[in-house]
Amino acid sequence: MSRTLLIIKPDASKRNLTEYIISRLEKARFKIVKMKKLKLKKSQAREFYAVHEGKHFLDSLVKFMCSGTIVPMALEKENAVKDLRALIGATDPSKADCGTIRFEIAKDIEKNSVHASDSDANAKKEIDFFFNK
Ligand code: ADP
Ligand code: MG
Repeated sequence: MSRTLLIIKPDASKRNLTEYIISRLEKARFKIVKMKKLKLKKSQAREFYAVHEGKHFLDSLVKFMCSGTIVPMALEKENAVKDLRALIGATDPSKADCGTIRFEIAKDIEKNSVHASDSDANAKKEIDFFFNK
C-alpha cells in the first residue's frame, strides 16, 4: 500500500462537487485515511506551490487556491500516486482523457478542480504539509 495527496480545489468545492469526487475515488478503490476542509492563506499556498516559483501562472494560481474552501485528503491504495494521476487526467482539461475527473468537471487549465501528488516523495511532503504540522 502507498499513499498520495488529493486536494479538491475551490472551483470544485464551490460547485458542490466534493461528494461526487469522493464517490469517484471510492469507486477506484482509494481509501480516504485523512481529510479536512480549510481555507489557505497566501503564504501557505506559496509554500505548497514552491516548486512553481518563477512560473508565469504562480501568482494567479495562489490567488485561486485561496479563493475558497479546499479539501485535502490522504489516500491509500497500491500504486496510489500513479493511479490517482491517471484518474484525475491531464492538467489541461481540454487534453484530459475521456472519463477522467478533470475531463468531466474541470473549468480550465488553472481551475482544474483537483490536485494530486506527482511522486512518492512529494506525496509524503504534501501529506505532512496538511496533516503533520
Ligand atoms: P498538475 O496539477 O497537473 O500537477 P502542475 O504541477 O504543472 O500541474 O501545475 C500546478 C497547477 O498550476 C495546475 O494544477 C493548475 O491549477 C496550475 N497551472 C499549471 N499550468 C498552468 C498554466 N499554463 N496556466 C494556468 N495555470 C496553470
Ligand atoms: Mg503538479
